[in-house]
Formats: sequence, structure tokens, C-alpha cells
Amino acid sequence: MSNEHAPAANFIKNIVEADLAAGKHAQRRWAGAPGTAADHAAAPLDPAKIRTRFPPEPNGYLHFGHAKSILLNFGLAEEFAGRCHMRFDDTNPEKEEQEYVDSILDAVKWLGCSWDKDGESNLYYASNYFDWMVQFAEYLISAGHAYVDSQSAEEMRANRGTLTQPGKDSPFRNRSVAENMDLFKRMQAGEFADGTHILRARIDMASRNINLRDPAIYRIRHATHHNTGDKWCVYPMYTFAHPIEDALECITHSLCTLEFEDQRPFYDWLLERLAEGGLLQRPLPQQIEFSRLNLTYVVLSKRKLIQLVEEKHVGGWDDPRMPTLVGARRRGYSPEGFKLFAERIGISKSDSLIDYVVFEDAQREVMNEADQRRVAVLDPLKLIIDNYPEGQFEDCHAPNHPLKPELGQRIMPFGRELWIEGEDFQEVPEKGFRRLFPGNKARLKYGYIVECTGCDKDENGKVVAVHCTYLPDTKSGTPGADSVKVKGNLHWVSVAHACAAEIRLYDRLFAVAAPGGRREGDAPELERDFLDDLNPNSVRVIAAQLEPSLKDVPPEQRFQFERHGYFVADRVDSRPGAPVFNRAVTLKDSWGKGS
Ligand code: ATP
Ligand code: MG
Repeated sequence: MSNEHAPAANFIKNIVEADLAAGKHAQRRWAGAPGTAADHAAAPLDPAKIRTRFPPEPNGYLHFGHAKSILLNFGLAEEFAGRCHMRFDDTNPEKEEQEYVDSILDAVKWLGCSWDKDGESNLYYASNYFDWMVQFAEYLISAGHAYVDSQSAEEMRANRGTLTQPGKDSPFRNRSVAENMDLFKRMQAGEFADGTHILRARIDMASRNINLRDPAIYRIRHATHHNTGDKWCVYPMYTFAHPIEDALECITHSLCTLEFEDQRPFYDWLLERLAEGGLLQRPLPQQIEFSRLNLTYVVLSKRKLIQLVEEKHVGGWDDPRMPTLVGARRRGYSPEGFKLFAERIGISKSDSLIDYVVFEDAQREVMNEADQRRVAVLDPLKLIIDNYPEGQFEDCHAPNHPLKPELGQRIMPFGRELWIEGEDFQEVPEKGFRRLFPGNKARLKYGYIVECTGCDKDENGKVVAVHCTYLPDTKSGTPGADSVKVKGNLHWVSVAHACAAEIRLYDRLFAVAAPGGRREGDAPELERDFLDDLNPNSVRVIAAQLEPSLKDVPPEQRFQFERHGYFVADRVDSRPGAPVFNRAVTLKDSWGKGS
């Protein structure tokens, strides 16, 4: 990207704008629910200018790639006074579970998208369309556009041909309409075993596009479906079901990823045949392909994500290191950060690999603006102010957000004993070190300037406490604050008031940009396993000391911990009084720089 802060290109917006300008969809009617041409014909004009949809199969948890698709579809509907349908593509009886349905709905809502708009609730299940799908399949049979094939799977495969060779017609291709109809009815009645017959579209076995060589449209599957139970023992193929779902729902722009490009001719063929038969309203939906999201340092394949969970390389689908949306939420990433990221990467037709840093930068930018500041000491070392009276405390004031004075201040109690970061003291300072070392002065942020006088060590020589004296006139916000100039500035919390907390410092789950990918010098036959590229140090759990105002924060509340990054109260393990925080992202990109 030449200028990463300019809005990136989105060619689909241009298509939508051109369609709207041409009035392409202006005469569409909408029955208030999905339906056939007849259902919609009797209804008023569609109040929605466009209709898009997000159509996941409920067979896994959503990942960062899905977020791109969700934000694109719901975003276009929002921008162009349309609607976006939330549709479960649940036509496959075996793989789907309620757990996935629930988590998908949660994730879409979490991203700030809604399928409820102006009194319309566009939440749909493709399995509710099975009656229509069977009716449409029967129409295709009656019009001579489909036939029952009784070849074995091997014969069908062998007769399909190759990229360079045409396929061969099935010996069953010229069955009569009556025979096809009879067989298809008996398929539905459960007379045949799985795989014995299949319904195919009759198109062209010599087509250059293999997807047009009489694709299968309905198969026998004696299986219980999570929604329709045992009502059906025939199920539609995805390539048949999906265009019909779009058309029944009056989708105007059906957006999918590039691997479906070769399916578009069948998508159009099928909908044209059904519209010719008067079953579907015109204009028909238009399929438009865009490139999928690929990100460095993560895997976005459902199969690999399942493997990470099942083999327990992570704690579960919502492990904060997982590139799932439940993982992102638990990690503390913000939905607005996803939106900013999606805007920046844009929508195109060319495959690209986006650097994870682009994602983190978008997150940081949103968090920097949104999050209140707090103080946490991650590696606590005791600082004793020898000239500050024991048992005495006073209030220091710290702004909640340096750019937003309207958010006010919070009180940080100050006393004789404070926790400071271990790295803020060096007995023998290295060159350029500006914080505490014997004889040096530094500011305790929001508090006083102190002069370091020495330290205590244990029998192993480890520093266990640092001593200093404070300069009483130098309190921040008082007239004397600037009377002494110092270069170092450090954060602290009062030992008597601090709240102990567990903090989980997350890093990238994989240590290399392309997990499982080939590397320079690899022998040609070498196959790498993505699991070998797991980062062994992707999480570190530490005991920290937090400022007292953090003690009772509710789960999912996020803050910037000064100097350390952005942290969220863990939504699973954090409790008021016993907080647990996850680091979402550091303040700056520090990957590979030893922190
Ligand atoms: P699979 O095909 O392995 O089941 P999937 O990721 O394609 O996985 P779907 O549930 O079919 O899962 O996806 C729902 C929608 O999300 C589809 O429209 C799909 O194109 C889109 N999508 C999936 N992965 C990505 C990605 N990496 N980038 C952009 N969109 C994606
Ligand atoms: Mg898919």
C-alpha cells in the first residue's frame, strides 16, 4: 500500500453504485420473507435498495477472514440503504451443530453488525428452503434440464473428462422425463441407498468449464438434519442450493471468495432456467468474487484451526492467540479495529498476503483513541522513600486519557513504599539509562521527584528493594513541579493499595510469517508441518501489581497500561476483586525485537 491511511479501493462499491444509477433493482418486489417469483410478485416494491448476505456454514467458529466478509456485506447494506441477511447455509446434514450457530450469531453481533433493521429480521436458515429446492429440481426434470444418473461414483468420475479432454455422456442421460421424475420421487421416498442414484443438471459434458459438465444437484443421504430431522433423505449440493437461497431472498449482490469464480457460469445457468420457468423473480442476483483475506503469522483454514484445538496446542476456540473472532474478543481486540483494518486493506480480485502488523496497527490506533489509561507494574520491585513518613498517604491525580480531559482524573494513593518496574533501577547504569541509579533523580509520574540512594540485596546479590528520598516541593501539578529538571519518568503503584493480578502476555501463535510454508533452501521434497512453526513463547503468565482503581473492573473492560500496551480484563477468568488481564497488543510493534 502506497498510502496506508487513504481508504483502499473497493471495486464492489463501484458495481453497486453503477447498478443503483442504472435502476437495475428498482422494480424488485419483496414479500417481507424469502419466496418464489409468485410470492414476491404480489408484494410491494422492496424498500431495501440492495440486499447482501453473509452465508456461513455452521460447521466451525468464525475467523478473521470471515470478519472481512461480514464487514463487507453488512457495510455495503448500511452504506447503500440496503439490508444484509444473516443466513446459515445449513444444507449439509452431517456437520452442523447448534454450538456453531450460537457462536456465529454472537460473533457477528460483536462486530457491530445487525440483521434486524427497520422492523425486518433477516435471519435465515437455508434448510427451511428444502421444499422449494425439491420443487425447483422437479421443475428442471420436467423441463428436460435434469436427469437421474445411476452410474457409480467411479464411473461418473472417469466420465467427467479432464481440463484438456471432454467428458462422456452418461448412459442414463437420455432417460425420459417420466422416468426421471419417478426415480427422483423414489429417491425422496427413501427407496434407494446412499450413492445409488444422483440428480444431475443436463448441460454439456464437453464444456470447457468442468463445472458445467452435468453437475450433481441432489444426492441421497440417509441422515438426520439438525433442523429438519428425518424429513428428508435427499439433500441439495452446495452449488445448487446456494444460488437458489440467494434468489429466494432477493439478494442483489452475492459476494463470495475467488475460488467460486468457476462456479459462476453454473450459478447463472441455474437461476436463468428457474426464472424462465417463472419460479424466480428477476433481476437475478449477481455473483461477484473477491480475494480472501490471508494474514501473516496465522492460519485461517478451518481444518488447521480445528487441529490446533483438538490437539490442544491452544486452550480452545477462544484462546486469545487463536485467529477466531471468539479468540479476538477474549484477546481484547476491538470490533472498530477490525473495521479500520478492513477499510485499509480494501476489496480486490488479486490474492495478497497482508502483514499482521497492518492488523495490529489498526487495533492500536483505535485503542489509543478509545482506551483509558491506567498503571500496572508488571515486574514489581519495591521502592522505599526513606524521608516519607511511614503510615502517611496522599492523593496524586492522573488523567484518564491525555487527549480527552473531559474523561477526568483518577486518584492514585502515594506513600512511603511503592512498586516500580524492575527494569527501572540499575545499580550500575548502562550508557543512556535515565531512571533510577544511585545518585540520580527521576520523576515518579503524577507524584514527586526522587533521588536514588541505594538498594538492598538478598544473599544471592539480587536486588530486593531500592531506596530513595523525595523532594517535597516537586509534586506534579504544583508550582514547584518544574523546579528540578530530570530526564527519567517512571510509573508506580502504592504497595499498601496495589491490587495483585495475573497478567497474560500474548505473542504470536506462530514464529514464522507463513506457518507450514516452504523456506529458502528447502529440499524440493520437503513438506513442512504448520505445527512445527508454533511459537513456543506465545504466552507468558506473570504476577503484576495494579493501581487500585483496577481492582473491580468488569470483564472485557480494556485499558492502556502506560508504557506496556493495551490490556483487557479476561472475559472468562477475571473476577471483580481478582482481575486477570490479557495483553491485546503492545504500544509499538516489537515483534522480533526481543521484548
Ligand atoms: P469451509 O469452506 O472450509 O467450510 P469457509 O471459511 O469458506 O470454510 P464458510 O462458512 O463457507 O466457511 O464461509 C462463510 C463466508 O465467509 C463465505 O462467503 C466465504 O467466502 C467467506 N470467507 C471465508 N473465509 C474467508 C477469508 N479468508 N476471507 C474472506 N472471506 C472469507
Ligand atoms: Mg465455504
